[in-house]
Amino acid sequence: MRYAKVVLPLPLHNTYTYAIPAHLRSKLRQGFRVIVPFGKKKYYTGIVADLTDTKPEGFEIKEIFSIPDEFPILKRPQLQLWNWVADYYLCSVGEVFKAAIPAGLKIESETFVELNPDFTDDTTPLNERESIIIGVLRQSSKKISIGDIEKKTGLTGVGLTLVHLLDKGIVNIHENLAERYQAKKETYITPEFSKEESQLQSAFKLVKGAKKQEIALLAIIEMSGLMRGESKEIKSKELKERADISQSILKALEQKGLIRITKKEINRFSYSGLISGQLPTLSEDQSSALEEIHNSWREKDVTLLRGVTSSGKTEIYMHLAKFVLEKRRQVLYLVPEIALTTQLTQRLQKVFGDKIIIYHSKFTDNERVDIWKKLLHTEEPYIIVGARSSVFLPFGHLGLVIVDEEHDASYKQQEPAPRYNGRDTAIVLARMHGAKTLLGSATPAIDTYYKALTGRFGLVELTKRFGDSLLPEIRIIDYGISKKRGEVLGSLSLATKNIIDNSISEGGQSIIFLNRRGYAPIVECKNCGWSPKCECCDVTLTFHKQTDRLTCHYCGAVYPMPQQCPECKEPNIEIKGYGTERVEDEIENSFKNISILRMDRDTTRNKDGHQTLIHKFSSGEAQILVGTQMVTKGLDFGKVSSVAILNTDALFNTPDFRASERAFNTLEQVAGRSGRRSDTQGIVAIQAYSTNHPVLSFIRKHDYIGFYNYEIEQRKAFNYPPFTRLIYIYIKHKDKEAVEELSIAYTHRLHHLFGNRIFGPEEPYVGRIQSLYIRKIMLKIETTASMQKVREILRDLYLNFHSTGHRFIKSAQIYYDVDPV
Ligand code: ADP
Ligand code: ZN
Ligand code: ZN
Repeated sequence: MRYAKVVLPLPLHNTYTYAIPAHLRSKLRQGFRVIVPFGKKKYYTGIVADLTDTKPEGFEIKEIFSIPDEFPILKRPQLQLWNWVADYYLCSVGEVFKAAIPAGLKIESETFVELNPDFTDDTTPLNERESIIIGVLRQSSKKISIGDIEKKTGLTGVGLTLVHLLDKGIVNIHENLAERYQAKKETYITPEFSKEESQLQSAFKLVKGAKKQEIALLAIIEMSGLMRGESKEIKSKELKERADISQSILKALEQKGLIRITKKEINRFSYSGLISGQLPTLSEDQSSALEEIHNSWREKDVTLLRGVTSSGKTEIYMHLAKFVLEKRRQVLYLVPEIALTTQLTQRLQKVFGDKIIIYHSKFTDNERVDIWKKLLHTEEPYIIVGARSSVFLPFGHLGLVIVDEEHDASYKQQEPAPRYNGRDTAIVLARMHGAKTLLGSATPAIDTYYKALTGRFGLVELTKRFGDSLLPEIRIIDYGISKKRGEVLGSLSLATKNIIDNSISEGGQSIIFLNRRGYAPIVECKNCGWSPKCECCDVTLTFHKQTDRLTCHYCGAVYPMPQQCPECKEPNIEIKGYGTERVEDEIENSFKNISILRMDRDTTRNKDGHQTLIHKFSSGEAQILVGTQMVTKGLDFGKVSSVAILNTDALFNTPDFRASERAFNTLEQVAGRSGRRSDTQGIVAIQAYSTNHPVLSFIRKHDYIGFYNYEIEQRKAFNYPPFTRLIYIYIKHKDKEAVEELSIAYTHRLHHLFGNRIFGPEEPYVGRIQSLYIRKIMLKIETTASMQKVREILRDLYLNFHSTGHRFIKSAQIYYDVDPV
């Protein structure tokens, strides 16, 4: 084929066609990476989506610049999944590409060039462009980037010229891939002599007088098993540790021809811990749930496992995974990002050893490329445990997808595009592989449970905790009344404090949850009411005591804490309310001789912060853990006998139709951390002002079904999902007038197309973030409508609106958020 249709990592709605240089035609296939010029100066890594012999009309066709690999870096059906995501979530396939592939596999503009040192033939004819470029290369002692070449020569589009110079053997071209991605290598030592007497003697003769070399030689003989006639490779690291040998000694031995030093690429992720290979025997309830799941898969591709907290869902997942591995197929085990702690991964690794591959956002780019390559070149059965973006990995032979905590809002990517839901994408991925999906949760999303009840998904339920430990007792504490009676100690009511005290005096631990980090969320001048706002966002700032700064929780900007009010100049600045930092402070003072840990975004910034805290708490180093929603997810601490929930009202008061659902899930999940393995029942103290909120009446009895029935009525009455489908349209601009004008114009067009299914535009709860004003329009579609049609209309409108050239369009952002959460 002569032309390739290439996907670029840009928000472009089409593929771009490039000519394939003749010598690459036989090699290039779908899924290959190609380096291509785009725009005036830029080079990008693209992916070949298709090949054709038809030359597209009306374009200037550029040529593919180079191919970095000998093989495609995508596996079937990855491209198909990209297209599905782009189509369903109304974004470009280039945006999906960008999210799907680790940055280490993308080369952007950073291709480096140097003169080929072996090239000596001065008689090769050169044209003017070529000689200018060579001139620049001669002046520079090292490799230089294409961008720099263009800067220094003043030429544009040097790509093709470089290809010609490459063909003539005058330059070398290095992809910066080699610079970004580095394989991890390990050094090995092997002796170059045998155990034969004469050889040994001459070996020792060679090191005679060099004491350290002699010691090294002895260690090498021993560790390689030479005297037993073996010739094991020795890890240089182990040798150095064992015999305190430096690199220079090894080099000396190598020069004397006594050893060979080799470097081997190794995988970063080999697991060296204990492997039991054993799965616990399932209880009777668990076994029948397992069987029901298998049965349900005979008819349905997707099954929901609703199991109360600590019922043993994870154990069931492991049994299913083992079953699928034995059939030599792969398993994708999705969890919310934050649940990817050693708690879960070690539990899995103990059983499956290095059959477990972990993938998440805190990995370095090198690590991600390693995993990508490992999966790319194998059909071996593995269990890939990862956060949402692992749906994009190159699976081969996927047999099962597990989505744990399927209700979790963090499965949805908010920013940037693709704004996809990892759970729903995983279901589609499974289907493409002919695999089954299991969704698991103690508190399934209302939409999911609805689908299960109406037969779209299978449904299996586990209603008892493992080992018959009881679900915790819920005590709802009226914080308003406590306060009136003077029965509070800062953020805690005395009743709550007593509950925590009791747990600890009985040797247990306690978790305190509140959904706010920092010290105090409200800062105010007592005199004139002034309160500090972010310069770029329409939000008030939170005071952080540790840094003595005011912080914007939307854009991260920090400001000094003023000593006096900037408005009235009075030194009467007051702080109000509680964040995790303040609660920690306060508890330190009111509980004596007790250690406290705090887990929130501020204490878990570095790679292992989260891990370390969990380890400390589970090993009993502290009695109390204070934290944000990070403490609600998937943790399994056996000694936690009480949980306190502060500032509960904030959970109910978010302006969203899912507020109740989210509040119920959060409360039930946090409560579920309590009493997981004790004989005595755990206790949960919920402090609230609005103690009569309906959600609390269901939480009190751990009544998911009751809550579901209540909530589904609300959804029906107000025509919300699952009875309709939602798409939000966001319009952002740095100018207020522009955002008004654009959103009115866009809404006008939408009205024309969708009539009274359009609501808005409205200013969202936070109307400006990072200097952009925001407007939101809502589209509510009846479930019987053709979504295909709706998507087509929306896409056309988007393209059309952009091409008509509204005066603010160039500087605006407009995007769709499909199935918002
Ligand atoms: P869930 O995922 O539903 O919250 P887990 O699978 O984490 O529940 O189980 C809760 C606790 O009970 C864990 O510590 C787990 O090891 C233990 N457990 C569950 N099922 C079994 C079993 N069949 N045998 C032994 N321990 C079990
Ligand atoms: Zn003031
Ligand atoms: Zn801000």
